[in-house]
Amino acid sequence: MTSFDSLWASILDVGQNQNTRGYRRYAWSDADLTLREWFRGCARTRSMDVEEDRNGNLWAWWMPPGWTGDPVGAFVTGSHLDSVPDGGAYDGPLGVVSAFAAVDILRARGIVPKVPIAVAAFSDEEGARFGVACVGSQLSTGALAAERALALRDLDGITLAEAMVKAGRSTEHMGVDRSLTDRVGVYVELHVEQGRALDLVDRPLAVASTIWPHGRWEFVFDGEANHAGATRLVDRRDPMLAFASSVHSARNSAQLHNAVATFGKVIVSPNGANAIPSRIRAWLDARAADEGTLTELVADITSHARAHAAGDRIDLDVTAESITPIVEFPDEPRHRLQKALAHLGEIPVLPTQAGHDAGILAAQVPTAMLFVRNPTGVSHSPEEFAEADDCNIGAQALAEAMIEWVH
Ligand SMILES: [Zn+2]
Repeated sequence: MTSFDSLWASILDVGQNQNTRGYRRYAWSDADLTLREWFRGCARTRSMDVEEDRNGNLWAWWMPPGWTGDPVGAFVTGSHLDSVPDGGAYDGPLGVVSAFAAVDILRARGIVPKVPIAVAAFSDEEGARFGVACVGSQLSTGALAAERALALRDLDGITLAEAMVKAGRSTEHMGVDRSLTDRVGVYVELHVEQGRALDLVDRPLAVASTIWPHGRWEFVFDGEANHAGATRLVDRRDPMLAFASSVHSARNSAQLHNAVATFGKVIVSPNGANAIPSRIRAWLDARAADEGTLTELVADITSHARAHAAGDRIDLDVTAESITPIVEFPDEPRHRLQKALAHLGEIPVLPTQAGHDAGILAAQVPTAMLFVRNPTGVSHSPEEFAEADDCNIGAQALAEAMIEWVH
């Protein structure tokens, strides 16, 4: 059993729902606190100093012998420990477990770092509980204001501030972490792949090129509520029709742009089984390889939706809720990573369609990502999977990267 295997086995039952087999490791829940204790334990047994920063992110430090003062220019690797509702085991924890396993590989080989190493676990990456993703990393870079974060509420009405206080944390100094740029020389995040690109080319690992720009738009179709039985078809102003046609159009537009578009959330008013709806509110999630394509895609989907609405005498209002620009991972750390992994043969360079802490940190420090093959491509589901062999190759690769930077 490798150190990866035993570390992996040690958290498999934390936060797993016995009925769905999915993980419910929400920020500041009991499962999250258990994983945070597990992280501290892993650090302690490796004589690494643990620090929970002002934003709840965990850092375990392996300092070069004789180093005094604060860390500078560190090689930092890790990911997150929280999950989506009924998520898989790999999204997040794979990066943290692999990071500790990589430390073990260096120690077993007697390698002593000349540069500080840290294993990091960023707080509330998925945003499953409070509705905003990458809270820990966004607070540290200043992309998310502390006042806004603290006021976020979960479905029970509990604010992030209350949840943190209940977990024994202080929220007083939450916000921009100016030490980030001094301390972090490079951040390398290993993550399970959330698609099937590696399976299709039969390779265990990839490095990231970009994170696709993405966004969320609200479409409101306004018609007229009426009786589902007594209203003649020609007299209806049924917004459901324009919405349904728009869903199909979005799919076609996405195909034409080699992009993705999803209407995943819908609110129907009045939502009666025997009533023609008066209003449909629907949220479009759209992602594309570059910002120009994303703009064209959303314009295309919107103009089709307007045509469908006009044909049915429906009013349509479209507003952008959030748009996240493209993240282009810098060349230097990627090339260095590829060089360190040259012995593994060709390492594909892939864009990712999902958001990550590495994408947030990229605004301030050099970052790179490594993906581990997911043979089914399924993610954010209990079915998410990676072979143990591939995970071990991932941990080994992370160790090679560490050596490249710190030795
Ligand atoms: Zn993740």
